[in-house]
Amino acid sequence: MSDPDLTALQSEFTAALAAAKDGASADRVKSDWLGRTGRLRKLTEELGKLSPDQKKIRGKAINDLKLACEAAAEDRLKALASNGAKAAPADAIDVTLPGTSTKLGRRHPIYQTMDEIREIFAKLGFEAAYGPEIETSYYNFEALNIPLDHPAAEPFDTWYLDDPEVASRPYRFLLRSHTSPAQMHIMEARKPPIRVVVPGKVFRTDPADASHLPVFHQLEGLMVDEGVSFADLKGVLAIAMKELFGAKTETRFRPSYFPFTEPSAEVDVSCVLCAGAGCSACKGSGWIEVLGSGMVHPKVLEYAKIDPEKYSGFAFGMGVERIAMLKLGVPDIRHFIRSHPLFLRQW
Ligand SMILES: [Zn+2]
Repeated sequence: MSDPDLTALQSEFTAALAAAKDGASADRVKSDWLGRTGRLRKLTEELGKLSPDQKKIRGKAINDLKLACEAAAEDRLKALASNGAKAAPADAIDVTLPGTSTKLGRRHPIYQTMDEIREIFAKLGFEAAYGPEIETSYYNFEALNIPLDHPAAEPFDTWYLDDPEVASRPYRFLLRSHTSPAQMHIMEARKPPIRVVVPGKVFRTDPADASHLPVFHQLEGLMVDEGVSFADLKGVLAIAMKELFGAKTETRFRPSYFPFTEPSAEVDVSCVLCAGAGCSACKGSGWIEVLGSGMVHPKVLEYAKIDPEKYSGFAFGMGVERIAMLKLGVPDIRHFIRSHPLFLRQW
């Protein structure tokens, strides 16, 4: 049986609840209607004035209305609570979201290796010096006791920058094929004692293959003073190789020939992979060649106007890519310039 005034009350309640835009307002509507002194309570109190039959009908209708209102109030409160969690202001910062990552750059592994070698020699008292990448044939060859008819000076191996037919100078311009010309610049510019390392780019006409690149890096060392002997060369390089490849690294010197040193020696280190036992990397020998060295040739000192009767020195040079390949376990030199950035990000 419908009861017009109760239907109107229910509509009024529904409207009040819909108008409540947050949990606190909806709670207030709920207690105004359903609380101990609320409007529906007052309707119950008025039942006393009715006859038993009317009371029964009216009582049930009021109770139905109360239950409907309570259910509606709960639904509204739930809806407002979940909306409140979602509807953050548009400019709000959610501190729980992952941040925007900034990709940091890093030194190329070749330069990391070069820095490491430079720092090892810095501890041994060698300062870093640099020379030009564009050189003259005099500094690249002749001053280092390499005659211009030496195979190393042939255009087949060297990037010349000028045309020999047009050149009227007593020398030619070229991209340096080793870092050794820097030795000469340093010896000309200062007098002994000299202790320097020269890291830098060098250029050869070699096509790229697994162990060659036309542009690569060397690190050159030079020490000149009174009384410098081959024992100093061996001592410095033995310490440096232990620093570079590990404390157990052994060093071996093999007689060799370079025009700018006399005597000259190739330097091997005990294989970094098998520790001397023999493996495919060292071709079963237990040794790996890492650098060339020797006592500075007296003629080279004379070119630099340093008296070879008074002073002596040693020099050494290594390929940075070769050292990096051994230390990092990279099998092909081309990986350093061709590989995906993820390859380089390993180091
Ligand atoms: Zn080995």
